[in-house]
Amino acid sequence: MQPYNNQQIKIYNSLTGKKEIFEPINNGYVGMYVCGPTVYSNVHLGNVRTFMSFDMVFRYLKHLGYKVRYVRNITDAGHLENDADVGEDKITKKARLEEIEPMEIVQRYTVDFHNVVATFNLLPPSIEPTATGHIIEQIELISSIIDNGFAYEVNGSVYFDVHKYNETNDYGILSKRKLEDLIHNTRALDGQSDKKNPQDFALWKKAEPTHIMRWPSPWSDGFPGWHLECTAMSTKYLGEQFDIHGGGMDLKFPHHECEIAQNKAAKGQDPVKYWMHANMLELNGSRMSKSSGNYINPAELLSGKNDIMSKAYSPSVIRFFMMQAAYRSVLDLTDTGLLASEKGFNRLMNAVDDLQNLKTSNTSSFDVKEWKQACYNAMNDDFNTPILIANLFEAVTQINAIKEGSVTITKEDLDTFKTAIHVFVFELLGLKNVQESEEGTNKLSGAVELLIKLRQEARANKDFALSDKIRDELAEVGITLNDSREGTTFSTN
Ligand SMILES: [Zn+2]
Repeated sequence: MQPYNNQQIKIYNSLTGKKEIFEPINNGYVGMYVCGPTVYSNVHLGNVRTFMSFDMVFRYLKHLGYKVRYVRNITDAGHLENDADVGEDKITKKARLEEIEPMEIVQRYTVDFHNVVATFNLLPPSIEPTATGHIIEQIELISSIIDNGFAYEVNGSVYFDVHKYNETNDYGILSKRKLEDLIHNTRALDGQSDKKNPQDFALWKKAEPTHIMRWPSPWSDGFPGWHLECTAMSTKYLGEQFDIHGGGMDLKFPHHECEIAQNKAAKGQDPVKYWMHANMLELNGSRMSKSSGNYINPAELLSGKNDIMSKAYSPSVIRFFMMQAAYRSVLDLTDTGLLASEKGFNRLMNAVDDLQNLKTSNTSSFDVKEWKQACYNAMNDDFNTPILIANLFEAVTQINAIKEGSVTITKEDLDTFKTAIHVFVFELLGLKNVQESEEGTNKLSGAVELLIKLRQEARANKDFALSDKIRDELAEVGITLNDSREGTTFSTN
């Protein structure tokens, strides 16, 4: 097939463990599903990294001219607290602790999630379906799996029969695990469980009387198992076969392994052509976890209100830092790393500004086309953003050399150069040319608010000379005060 925009992408497929040439199932169209957040608490920074990685993939595919349908779900039906299918639904637990409705929790943290991803300039997906909005589809799937003999009902709950499935299929095909090893490594059932084998997983759970989130089904009033929604929603919106399924590395097993098993058991095939997994984000060399204290959330990182980092970092600097690592590598978040990224980001933005005022010559001593293709080659190689960024720093060197006169560029090449820089820096990496830190902005508004208050006091004391002086002198430095019945606001120009 004709590669798009003359570029041919290779994607590392977790299923085969190889980089493969990307050939979409339908020429020109790409279907991509990414496991979204569970909305029972503020979004984890590691999840932000995962969603940012797939945002970059989404942006690149769109840039090449593919029509992309990107589906990222919202898990609002709650997960059980552990993979053994016992324990309390996380959303219900949080609701009980805070004495509010489960859907209030869902609403609060969905809004938080949307705010955070918008702050980091992630594009919205094409469809953002919710688990609770697809209970009927999940019930239909369970019925098919039972009809095909791969699930059984006990006391109103339905379990997937992993041993039966593994007789004719390979449970572990994605995570490269063997059922024999899983059997060896799991504890025996304690006699309380309805499961035939500890490896079986819930497709439907009968709700206890205290369980708030529940729906009627042929088996009981209950709720779906946590692997099921993605199987239902991905195939509903992307078809019986689709191109890319992504998620964090931690979802490979059991979540994605179970998705494959559910699809094969219900429909006879794994619908996914390329499985992609984004790697983990660590903090100061070890796993982030709230309980150990080695933890920082997006808001704390952005505001600087934390004991881990020396200062606040802007969303674009954090995004630049994350893009400096390949999505398949573990990334260690450190203050030193962020400071270095901030320096690099500012250098890049200064060069982007300088690019607008470069002088042109009759000849070019810098091969813009070759440089541009090197940038594409980096992206084509499994979305290698660190190599792309290395090429962007090469561009910075060239921009500075053109500025100093040691390298020349023609008008035509400069236009190509400007367009390419714009594409790679803003369109694909999703950065914004904002160099002042959020901290600086906060300090400025704090100071102006203080002056607005002093001006109000002056007016209340009929000291109009002083109140006008405050307004006029602020105007001189580019800050306009806008008086209205609701009070005074300000704008900068
Ligand atoms: Zn999922």
